[in-house]
Amino acid sequence: MEISRRSQDTRCRLVGLDKIGLLTRLRSTCPYCSVSCGVIIYTLGDKAKNVTPQVIHVEGDPDHPINRGTLCPKGASLEQDILNERRLLKPQVRRPGATDWQDISWDDALNEIARWVKKSRDDTFVEKDQQGRTVNRCEGVAFTGGCTDTNEFNYLVVKTMRSLGVCYLENQARV
Ligand code: SF4
Repeated sequence: MEISRRSQDTRCRLVGLDKIGLLTRLRSTCPYCSVSCGVIIYTLGDKAKNVTPQVIHVEGDPDHPINRGTLCPKGASLEQDILNERRLLKPQVRRPGATDWQDISWDDALNEIARWVKKSRDDTFVEKDQQGRTVNRCEGVAFTGGCTDTNEFNYLVVKTMRSLGVCYLENQARV
């Protein structure tokens, strides 16, 4: 298989940085789908306390039994997902009837979420079904996880949602 010029340049750059101890390799898992391909994330930085590590390259892990170094186009774009000036780094809210999103602080976002979850749960909680059986379920709240959620996050989501009585729950804990 022919290696592109760009790939060769990247490889030379990584080898050079590695030689002078400025490269850190982290093995990870592509978060996008349940195939769970292995990736290697290359970070620039010698782990000194005054240095902010910077991701400089992501590629398929050749030693991973699932993908053996290959990535689909989505996985191959992981670097652009991490290093993207359009990446959303703060919470936003779109008010009822509004067409635009507004920035909101984390404190305000958490308070609003808590207030609306409580109101929805109070308004829709079902203690008994039509046959009089105790069900204690919340039918007015649903939760959908994202494909980049970790197992740890999903574990906490399930615990939290079940404690509220939420039964409409889906996430990607399969990864
Ligand atoms: S590289 Fe593609 S196939 Fe592999 S886990 Fe990521 S999205 Fe799924």
